[in-house]
Amino acid sequence: TSPRAFAAGVPLVLEDVPRRPAAERAEQLADPGFGRYFTDSMVVARYRAGEGWHDARLTRYAPLQLDPSAAALHYAQSIFEGLKAYAQPDGTVATFRPEANAARFARSATRLAMPPVPAESFLAAVDALVDADRDWVPTGPDQTLYIRPYMLAVEPFLGVRPAHEYLFIVIASPAGAYFPRGVQPVSVYLSEDYIRAAPGGTGDVKCAGNYAASLLAQEQALAAGCDQVVWLDATEKRYVEEMGGMNLFFVRGSGADAELITPELTGTLLPGITRESLITLARELGHTVTERRFDVEEWRSGVEDGSITETFACGTAAVITPVGQVRARTGDFTVGDGTPGPLTMALRSHLLDIQHGRTADAHGWLHQV
Ligand code: PMP
Repeated sequence: TSPRAFAAGVPLVLEDVPRRPAAERAEQLADPGFGRYFTDSMVVARYRAGEGWHDARLTRYAPLQLDPSAAALHYAQSIFEGLKAYAQPDGTVATFRPEANAARFARSATRLAMPPVPAESFLAAVDALVDADRDWVPTGPDQTLYIRPYMLAVEPFLGVRPAHEYLFIVIASPAGAYFPRGVQPVSVYLSEDYIRAAPGGTGDVKCAGNYAASLLAQEQALAAGCDQVVWLDATEKRYVEEMGGMNLFFVRGSGADAELITPELTGTLLPGITRESLITLARELGHTVTERRFDVEEWRSGVEDGSITETFACGTAAVITPVGQVRARTGDFTVGDGTPGPLTMALRSHLLDIQHGRTADAHGWLHQV
């Protein structure tokens, strides 16, 4: 038993997790890629209706045993989060805005009729895992430890109703630099056959089913020679919503007066934490940031008449990714000259510098573990 608490009266038990050999870890950290390797430990907590959260422990990363009738496997009562830990120049490790992930996780839980994990329990679990596995936080340029908290319904039964039993789990995976050979713009495909989210649906939360439903459109994008799918609104298929697992920004004009436009949170797109952070940073740099609906035709005509100078996507995994070529049934177009724009790159370095502790964290976004 440890002094860590998962919740009032519920300890977070730290088991003595065996370490994999240092040489194996070093080999995986040298070229981690993304989501390929997992650290030595995981945190698991259980929930049962009437009993609440209990049996929270840091334990060895290992396969789960689930009943074949476990509800999540049938009815997709399953949610997740994604955040990162960053090695700091002074040798410490910090996560970026974990409270925001805790809050979004609670909103996702509520939408899926699941019991929210209290924010302090979410933070305690993430901290315990990062602390135990801090030798898995890579220290190479722009390398990070990606943290994946998730919750699934494990009650064994068939029938469509909220389950009475859940697991909350946190795992972690070292992640390499997203652009090891320099930032490259992605090409995108406008999804005109499939939609990601409809009003009243689950588009503004991180439930597993949203991602299953996106796979075919992503395959269609790849088949059309594009890197990523861009989603449009479900009703008019006219307004740009988001790109794959990232939010979008459009730059109007250039230099100090450039305006940033990002699709407003209509309930059908995910409120990204990177999106919110960039809105704050861009306003501090003196830019106007407007959250509103953004029509594909405004994107196209703006690119054509030169008023839309840059487009980029943002999210935890890739931070900021410039968008170059756009493919649509109604005709293709290329943003700017197809290379990363200056505001895209300036915001990217600014945010990365904060996350990696190379510049002052004026907003208190870093959480020391
Ligand atoms: N949209 C979707 C659909 C996502 O899955 C993500 C990743 N969580 C984002 C946007 C970006 O969110 P964040 O900046 O919080 O990573």
